[in-house]
Amino acid sequence: MKNNIKYLVTAALPYANNYVHIGHVAGAILPPDIYVRFRKLKNDDVIFICGSDEHGTAIEMASILEKVTPQEIIDRYHFSNKKAFEDLGIRFDIFSRTSSEIHKVTASEFFLNLYNKKLLYQKTEKQLYSEKEKRFLADRFISGTCPVCGFEEARGDECENCGSNLSPLELINPRSKITGDTPVEKETTHFYIPLADYQEKLSEWLSEKKNWKANVINYCKGWLKSGLRDRAVTRDLDWGVKVPVKGNDGKVIYVWFEAPIGYISMTKEFFIGKNEPEKWKEYWSGKDSRLIHFIGKDNIVFHSIIFPSMLMAHGGFNLPYNIPANEFLNIGGRKFSKTRGNAILLRDIVQKFNPDVVRYTIASIFPENKDSEFTWEDLQAKNNNELASILGNFVNRTVVFAKSKFGNVIPEFPDSGSHMKENGILEHIKSKADAVADNIENFRFRDALSEAMDAVRSANKYFNDSEPWKLIKDDKEKCSAVINTCLEICHSLAILFEPFLPFTSDKILHILDKDTSGLKWENIGKRVLKSGTALGENSILFPQIEDSTVKELNLKYNIGIDPGNSPVNVEDTNNMNVISIEDFHKVKLRVAKVLKCEIVPGSKKLLRLKLKVGDTEKQIVSGISEHYKPEEIEGRLIIIADNLKPSKIMGIDSEGMLLAAKKGGKLKIVTVDGDIEDGAEVN
Ligand SMILES: [Zn+2]
Repeated sequence: MKNNIKYLVTAALPYANNYVHIGHVAGAILPPDIYVRFRKLKNDDVIFICGSDEHGTAIEMASILEKVTPQEIIDRYHFSNKKAFEDLGIRFDIFSRTSSEIHKVTASEFFLNLYNKKLLYQKTEKQLYSEKEKRFLADRFISGTCPVCGFEEARGDECENCGSNLSPLELINPRSKITGDTPVEKETTHFYIPLADYQEKLSEWLSEKKNWKANVINYCKGWLKSGLRDRAVTRDLDWGVKVPVKGNDGKVIYVWFEAPIGYISMTKEFFIGKNEPEKWKEYWSGKDSRLIHFIGKDNIVFHSIIFPSMLMAHGGFNLPYNIPANEFLNIGGRKFSKTRGNAILLRDIVQKFNPDVVRYTIASIFPENKDSEFTWEDLQAKNNNELASILGNFVNRTVVFAKSKFGNVIPEFPDSGSHMKENGILEHIKSKADAVADNIENFRFRDALSEAMDAVRSANKYFNDSEPWKLIKDDKEKCSAVINTCLEICHSLAILFEPFLPFTSDKILHILDKDTSGLKWENIGKRVLKSGTALGENSILFPQIEDSTVKELNLKYNIGIDPGNSPVNVEDTNNMNVISIEDFHKVKLRVAKVLKCEIVPGSKKLLRLKLKVGDTEKQIVSGISEHYKPEEIEGRLIIIADNLKPSKIMGIDSEGMLLAAKKGGKLKIVTVDGDIEDGAEVN
């Protein structure tokens, strides 16, 4: 019996100031495509929504720097990304954009709904303003010296050197990125949403989410624990959805508020296109509908805390049913980054390889529970050792046999005789399909894929054990039963793998003279082929990938090359006792506040320090009492190695080490320039 559940599946909206790379694909694009394709095979009611996120400072900034309109920037990336997704076989029901008219209307209405209910408030504050450009300079329009690490090119919202989140007013020597001018502080008034008002409801709602992934729940708990802060909903910018309240010229709705509303406006647009303009409501408000957001971990807070708060404030919408966020996909031990030249763009990789090989490789390393690593060697191995030698091999040997021994048609499955093994293998494939289904329904795509591959291994074993090459001479009827069954297995595999390898699925169906339109999950393990049907043309599904290709790609993407883009020189590394940045990051350095300090009784050198490090308190014992009196240290901010293995010094626990500079007989503790909260990370 068909259920009434409607699935509304969204993929994180790619930002239209860049080409998408395979990290995006692994995080938020391919998992929902597999999920939706599976649901469609099950004949479930599902729609798949995505589009470009086209507002915000980065796009306006790029347009100014390139001296083109924002429209030119977003057109460039929107259409390119859309095409790359199609080439990878991502089958959105709609891939729209937040610059559309319908989105502007929907976002404005949403804003006004909250404004009219007095759920937003206005606050006047100082922001940086350029007299020359006659505009407020939003975060990315500003650069200056990072107050944390002293990096001189820190952005107004973040320091790329130390990773600190910043606000433009915190920067030392701020200047306009466009003119280089020093801005002034000027008052401006903005709308805010008091997120704390939703904290209790959110906690309650999240506490019911027993089936959510642990990483997502943990992020949410962390956010809720530290308390939700009010957030500005508007800002001073040209490019965006204008604030729909009089007296707010030059202001737009903040992109974090407006972009997720894109999911709603794109659903509307989809149904308007189908001439059912009211139907979107069934998916957003129906009691049997499930809203599922696929995202990367950097988006968790927006989808699990902020957007749900907005939906609660508005009313009439379902809250997300699940948010199966992925962690990050890395390459060569590093995050994908344009500046490092290691970002593998989707549009490039789908030109170079069979898109199904790309899908398979990425799906098999989805960062479902922790970060994972992409390598070209792995892609080669997945193609050569799994896709070609297991799946490709089974289809090929079956079809070649039928072509040469049974006149290129599907042989009969004889009525008479015992077919225990023949029926048994189909039942086995069916049971594997159940395992695949269970895994996909619970967002365990890696396990699903490995179960599917196991099914093909069993099929190969069945082929080998049946020895059709002998049967063809001794018992042609039995041979006919075996090859017929193997072709039925090919058909089952075409369904089973369709969510993962849609192009391959298509090719297999073409060989079997079937089309994709009637593909149904429930037909896996069933006999559906008509004997006597002529087989279509066979081709090698997965040609080998050569070592030389891998080598060439490692060079192209700077893998095994240091961030300075010069090859790592092993000799230098040894001589200078150089460590990698990864090694350095193993030591967690933090700012600690000295709450109390006392001499350890009976010792000459030791001081015992009680410290506050963010949320935790700890004590360390340090041999500095010849250099400092306890009262000279109390109340000061010092730097400690926070993750040092605890030890006992004169019977006292010491849980870290303070940093001090030493030369000759002199010792000075390392401290912080200016004020910063204890617990701050030191990089
Ligand atoms: Zn910094």
